[in-house]
Amino acid sequence: MGTVYCGPFAEAVGYHDHEGYSARILPDGTETAIWTYETREFVGYRAHCECGWRGRHRYAATDEGEQLADEEWDRDHLRPLIDAEAQRYTVPASRLLDFTRELRESLTTTDDEQGRPMLTAHCQGVLHAAEQLERFLDDLAQNGGEL
Ligand SMILES: [Zn+2]
Repeated sequence: MGTVYCGPFAEAVGYHDHEGYSARILPDGTETAIWTYETREFVGYRAHCECGWRGRHRYAATDEGEQLADEEWDRDHLRPLIDAEAQRYTVPASRLLDFTRELRESLTTTDDEQGRPMLTAHCQGVLHAAEQLERFLDDLAQNGGEL
C-alpha cells in the first residue's frame, strides 16, 4: 500500500524502515494506515512513514490530498535521507567521463525514410543525457571543481 524506495543508496538509507504512506485522519483525530469499513469516513490525510516520521501538513480527504501527502513524504523525508547519504561520496570526474563514452558507444541507428542512418528515439535521449553530463563536467572544470 505504501511506497518503498528502491533507487540509489536504498540499502544505505534503510529503505525497508521507510515505507511512506498517506494515513487517514479520522473524525476523532486518530491517524491510521488501516483502510477498512471502520475507517471509511475520514477527514483528511497526513504523510506517514514506517519509521515514525509524520508530515507537518494536513491534506484534504481527496485523491489530490492523498497525492500531496505522498509527495510531502518523498520531498521532506525520503529525499533528505538519500541526499545525506549521497553527500558522503565523491565520484572521480574520469569515471563520469568514461560513462559518457560508454553511453556514446551504445548508440544505435535506424534508417530514415530515405535510407539514411538516424538515431532511434531512445538513443536520442541517451545522447542528450551524455551531452548534459559532458556539459556538467566542462562547467565543473571551468569553475575550478566547484559548482
Ligand atoms: Zn522514514
